[in-house]
Amino acid sequence: MSTLNDAGRFLPVTGMVLPRFAGIATFMRLPYVPLTDALIDEVEVGLVGIPWDGGTTNRAGARHGPRQIRDLSTLARNINRASGINPFELCNCADLGDTPVNPVDLEDTLRRVEDFYAELHQKNIVPLTAGGDHLVTLPVMRAIARDQPLGMVHFDAHTDTWDRYFGNSLYTHGTPFRRAIEEGLLDPRRTIQIGIRGALYGDSENDWGMEQGIRIVDIDAYHRLGVEGVLKLAREVVGDGPTYVSFDVDFLDPVYAPGTGTPEIGGATTYEAQQLVRGLRGLNLVGGDVVEVSPPFDPSGNTALVAMTMMFEILCVLTDSIKRRNAR
Ligand code: MN
Ligand code: MN
Repeated sequence: MSTLNDAGRFLPVTGMVLPRFAGIATFMRLPYVPLTDALIDEVEVGLVGIPWDGGTTNRAGARHGPRQIRDLSTLARNINRASGINPFELCNCADLGDTPVNPVDLEDTLRRVEDFYAELHQKNIVPLTAGGDHLVTLPVMRAIARDQPLGMVHFDAHTDTWDRYFGNSLYTHGTPFRRAIEEGLLDPRRTIQIGIRGALYGDSENDWGMEQGIRIVDIDAYHRLGVEGVLKLAREVVGDGPTYVSFDVDFLDPVYAPGTGTPEIGGATTYEAQQLVRGLRGLNLVGGDVVEVSPPFDPSGNTALVAMTMMFEILCVLTDSIKRRNAR
């Protein structure tokens, strides 16, 4: 049973009361508030799992991501040392559980996930998602970008704007942002992709995205610009319109996040990733996700620890953004 404290806030269970290894694991030890709970109307930010990897083209396993991320997120604490933000004081955050999925039917899953997020959106709840493979971002955007196309800060080793696989498969974790742009959910001129690297299938692979106006910061440009330069560019690209943050763990070097389907060496460090997300403070953020955590490739749980920490970093700038919007 979920309860609000005297200040009308959901707060994580503190490790001073219930040891971190005990109890049922929810994201960051927040209360579990399913959509059917009366307290759902009090939720401002919903942490949601999408346990699904049906868009994965090679090494599957991200369907197990949300459960392991919840487990490792019992290590989370409340206050961000760098920014001083306590996201749980800024907004009512809760674990809304996992979306319905159908592990053997891709299009049915896309509909189920979209329906779940449409209900959140209708209740004015801002989503922060744990994937799942990167295709899950598409149904989330279908639900929350109906009224207005979003800008996006996208951290990834891959652009995920390929057209189709195996002749005619439109929906894979390599295609979500092509579809999102075609469907008018994502504004390519307000989209920046950071950390792109790895070998290509063809030398024109990035042409479509660049023709649409996406700003691609490949890993060489990333190191030339440095964290501050990348952030300056990101702020210019997305401006003050509604912006989504999508964080594929393969943005990081596989020494930090080996538990992922498509690792690419030569990636960013976890500290750089934290600085980058902290630097998004002040943008008009409307949602975010951390995707492509595949526990079978990292039974140690370190990739899930990284993912939950990045979720916490995104939660800090997201709740700060909501607070600013509400104050206007
Ligand atoms: Mn991706
Ligand atoms: Mn990727």
